[in-house]
Amino acid sequence: MSLDYLIIGAGPAGLACAIEAQRKNLDYVVVDKGCITDAIYRFPADLVFFSTPDRLAIGDALFITESFRPTRIEVLNYYRSVVDHYGLKIAAYEKVESIKADSGSFNVHTLLGSGEKRVRKADKVIVATGYYDHPNMLGIQGEDLPKVSHYYTEAHPYHNCDVAIIGGKNSAVEAALAFCRAGARVTMIHRGATVSGSVKYWVRPDIDKKLEAGEIKAMFDSEVVRIKPDAIEVKNNDSGDTVKLKNDFVFALTGYHPGAELLTGCGARIDSDTLAPEHNLDTLETSVPGLYVAGSIVAGKNNNKVFIENSREHGKKIV
Ligand code: NAP
Repeated sequence: MSLDYLIIGAGPAGLACAIEAQRKNLDYVVVDKGCITDAIYRFPADLVFFSTPDRLAIGDALFITESFRPTRIEVLNYYRSVVDHYGLKIAAYEKVESIKADSGSFNVHTLLGSGEKRVRKADKVIVATGYYDHPNMLGIQGEDLPKVSHYYTEAHPYHNCDVAIIGGKNSAVEAALAFCRAGARVTMIHRGATVSGSVKYWVRPDIDKKLEAGEIKAMFDSEVVRIKPDAIEVKNNDSGDTVKLKNDFVFALTGYHPGAELLTGCGARIDSDTLAPEHNLDTLETSVPGLYVAGSIVAGKNNNKVFIENSREHGKKIV
């Protein structure tokens, strides 16, 4: 039996597609290599969303929170309750390895946690895999050391440690503030001349004050050029001088980009610079008939342009 839709990714965009398919009595399944809303689950534990609850809500299900901006926990609770309310069909912990077009439909090859391989057939496939699995790498020596991470989750373990944070936008600033409050010695290293102008206006006063007071140190116009087990080397791009800093942990919060392999493996055309898939703006169909994209993957590397609040309608457009 061939499904009407196979949806890859159980994030908000994939779930919104599932709700639309279900409303039309279509046969579908959402397949995810992790849990539902897996990326949000892996966000910083204490994250408070920038978006207000009404802008994160899907399927006309009300989302009411205690304060103006929802916490990560409230968002996880909400999406779980939406899945239960609609009885959405989800195959969690099943990784899609490839999508193959097969005379008007698709064979989707998956791998289960048990090691079992499966082939699922579908007339149409929606790829809604987001971008959080692929950090923007620095490509420097030492980036593969265990003390280096591209994900910040909690600050507590870094009390009394020398922590370097690379990047100058929202993730870097929120992490720097959290590490500082948890008693880490924090140095931000950013290639720009200041913290980015895109840092949210309600976060900005706190970081500005802490930088001014020297509670968080910053090295602007600078890049980390080498990471060693006990130190980092930082080059100032104006002077060309390099200094060595004592260091215990590095958080390279340099943003993320979508993986393109599932799409290109099926023959979809992708812009090599932006990694954005070619697609019809009205239907979100890619250059492969029957293969669609939903959520932030639509924008490729420009994932600051498409996020939950403006991709919730992708399901309606596609289905
Ligand atoms: P981002 O906005 O892509 O910022 C990445 C930062 O890393 C930028 O400062 C960039 O420098 C720098 N960078 C990138 N590649 C680099 C390299 N090779 N070497 C050195 N620096 C490099 O990523 P983000 O801050 O993780 O934010 C991602 C998304 O999550 C955004 O949409 C953001 O609004 C959202 N976010 C939401 C919350 C929340 O809801 N509470 C919190 C954090 C983030 P340049 O500035 O020079 O480009």
